[in-house]
Amino acid sequence: MSVNKLLVAGAGQMGAGIAQVSAVAGLEVVMIDVADEFIARGMAGIEKGLGRLVEKGRMEAGARDAALARISTSTDIAAGADADLFLEAAPESMELKQELFEKAAATLRPDAIIATNTSSLSVSKLAAFVTEPVRFVGIHFFNPVPMMALVEVVRGEQTSDETLSAARSFAEAVGKTAITVTDSPGFVVNRILFPMINEAANAYHESVASAGDIDTGMKLGANWPMGPLALADLVGLDTTKAILETLERELGEARYTPSPALGELVAAGRLGRKSGSGFYDYGK
Ligand code: NAD
Repeated sequence: MSVNKLLVAGAGQMGAGIAQVSAVAGLEVVMIDVADEFIARGMAGIEKGLGRLVEKGRMEAGARDAALARISTSTDIAAGADADLFLEAAPESMELKQELFEKAAATLRPDAIIATNTSSLSVSKLAAFVTEPVRFVGIHFFNPVPMMALVEVVRGEQTSDETLSAARSFAEAVGKTAITVTDSPGFVVNRILFPMINEAANAYHESVASAGDIDTGMKLGANWPMGPLALADLVGLDTTKAILETLERELGEARYTPSPALGELVAAGRLGRKSGSGFYDYGK
């Protein structure tokens, strides 16, 4: 099955990014969220992102306008009932996702693919919330979506070959390279990346160096394009902590225990870029 129409749930960092790259690739997109203010914020981000491409001469103004015209929004899932693919990019909560998937399974066409962008929850467990788990798959984008070239396509226990192949084709159609991963905590990239971010947070907590020097160390000493603490701020420190907690619980290894620095910053409401401060201040 080829995906021509996407219904994306969540207009946050990931949902808006997925809507953007899909619309640019020519797909029709319906983006839903729970309130108009979140939709407005997501659309403003997309307009800003596409506007920057036009300013840099990497996109024609007409192509930007056409991409924006392909995105419609709603607070009602029924607005995307005829979509080929439902991709959930709502907060990382099993209960919240359960409600969304049950609603999606009841609303969408019976042959539609239902997918999750979860970073850390089990794709097979989430698949239990839909009527046909063979059509359920993980499609895990990376942040920021327009810039990151990878998508992990995650095969749940019951995901069919057809569903997997449609998910891979969708990822490639929106300009990404897909790798296929079995349903295992953190998949490939986060399982390896997050313990490294956590170690950077521990080094910060133990005053080994300042945040800036830790990041410069990893940029110049390990050729990371961005330092681990700046990356944690971009991901969101609450999301970073939640991913580590899941890895610790699922893999049973103390090395995934979130650094006290993450706990302190999250408790203080310093969630990274999205809240205006985290390991760094963003002057908002
Ligand atoms: P976010 O907080 O930026 O956005 C989530 C959005 O979902 C919010 O706008 C919220 O209002 C909306 N929402 C809440 N309940 C909803 C519902 N019932 N229906 C529709 N929308 C609803 O979060 P995010 O960073 O975009 O993360 C979304 C998902 O993507 C999570 O599962 C996360 O693990 C995963 N993910 C995040 C990253 C990252 O770097 N942030 C990377 C890959 C995957």
